[in-house]
Amino acid sequence: PSITRGVTVEIPKVSWEDIGGLHDLKKKLQQAVEWPIKHAATFSRLGILPARGILLHGPPGCSKTTLAKAAAHAAQASLFSLSGAELYSMYVGEGELLLRRTFQRARLAAPSIIFFDEADVVGSKRGGNSSSNISVGERLLSTLLTEMDGLEQAKGILVLAATNRPYAIDAALMRPGRFDSVLYVPPPDLEARYEILLVHTRKMKLEDDVDLRRIAQDTELFTGAELEGLCMEAGMVALREDISATLVCDRHFQAVRESLKPALTGEEVD
Ligand code: ATP
Repeated sequence: PSITRGVTVEIPKVSWEDIGGLHDLKKKLQQAVEWPIKHAATFSRLGILPARGILLHGPPGCSKTTLAKAAAHAAQASLFSLSGAELYSMYVGEGELLLRRTFQRARLAAPSIIFFDEADVVGSKRGGNSSSNISVGERLLSTLLTEMDGLEQAKGILVLAATNRPYAIDAALMRPGRFDSVLYVPPPDLEARYEILLVHTRKMKLEDDVDLRRIAQDTELFTGAELEGLCMEAGMVALREDISATLVCDRHFQAVRESLKPALTGEEVD
């Protein structure tokens, strides 16, 4: 990926199969991202406008970023990744400039996806506070709104935004033609946890005693990121135990599992 300060551009290698669970969500994203690009002629024949923005929300570590990557990979689109927090921390005017330039570059590189992480930092509800920092957020938000509205004529650009705090997003961003689709990315349920474990042990050599279904049962409230960490750590335990080890065994997974406590409490709001 190429990295200019504050923005990464790449056509990611992650595919839909690298994401465990979330089958309906993947299908929805697939349609929103791939159809307008692959079937542009049908869209204009029928006179329908593709989605311009989709907001993904849910707890950290549950694959919002990975979904954006898989969507870009599937559509062979360039993925421009920006972070709201990073834009916010820039010098006065720099964040807006970067935002405008990114939309400009995305138009030139179309098909493109602009992934906007921590969107709530920029798109926070306006007013009510007199501190000067608010105006930084407001200026960024108004730039984002202008750019989103300007996408009307642009073809093959989709903005995917992610947040853990959807309730903090300004209503102006949720008007039709901006982020008109809001999708919840939940923590993985039992079946999803099993599929995530399958994904992250795909390249590992496992002893027969490793029962991924049982591990899935035993990891309630674990996020995808934590399950990935569990698999990698189990491999490290096997290696530390015996530097010439060839297999990762159940006891390695158990040792790691016992040392971990999930960050989610089960009370996360949708
Ligand atoms: P944040 O809100 O902190 O940015 P996120 O929701 O964007 O988190 P990701 O960055 O996509 O989460 O996921 C973190 C890591 O966890 C990734 O490396 C990914 O491989 C893994 N992961 C998360 N969910 C899944 C999943 N459903 N299937 C496979 N891997 C997953």
